[in-house]
Amino acid sequence: MNGAIGWARGSGEFAEERGLRRGEWYKVLEDQGAGWLVLDVNDVHVRITRDYLVVRRSQPKTWSVVRLTPAQGADETHRMYLVCPGCHTRQHLTGRPKESECPKCRKTYPVDWSDRA
Ligand SMILES: [Zn+2]
Repeated sequence: MNGAIGWARGSGEFAEERGLRRGEWYKVLEDQGAGWLVLDVNDVHVRITRDYLVVRRSQPKTWSVVRLTPAQGADETHRMYLVCPGCHTRQHLTGRPKESECPKCRKTYPVDWSDRA
C-alpha cells in the first residue's frame, strides 16, 4: 500500500465512462501493481489502469485546460474551459490570462495554455 504515489487525470472515453471528468485531478490512493491504480474520485474509489490516465507525483497547481471539439456540441464561448486543480470547479474564460482566481475556492492558480486535458 502506497498512499502517496501522486495524482492522476483521465484521458480518453474509457476514463470518462468510469466517472472521471475531463481535466479533474484525483488523488491516487493505491498502486495495486500491473498498472492498476485506485483513485479517489469524489470519495468513490475507482480502480482503473494507467493506460487511461496521466499520472504525476506532485499535486497539480495549475488550471487544467479542456478543449472541446465542435462535434461535442459546444458553442464558441463554451468550447474551452478550465478546471480548478484544487476543487474541480469549471470556469469559462475569455482571453488568455496568465492566471485566474477560482470562483469557488478563491485560490489563484496559473494557467498553462499548452495543457490539453
Ligand atoms: Zn477551486
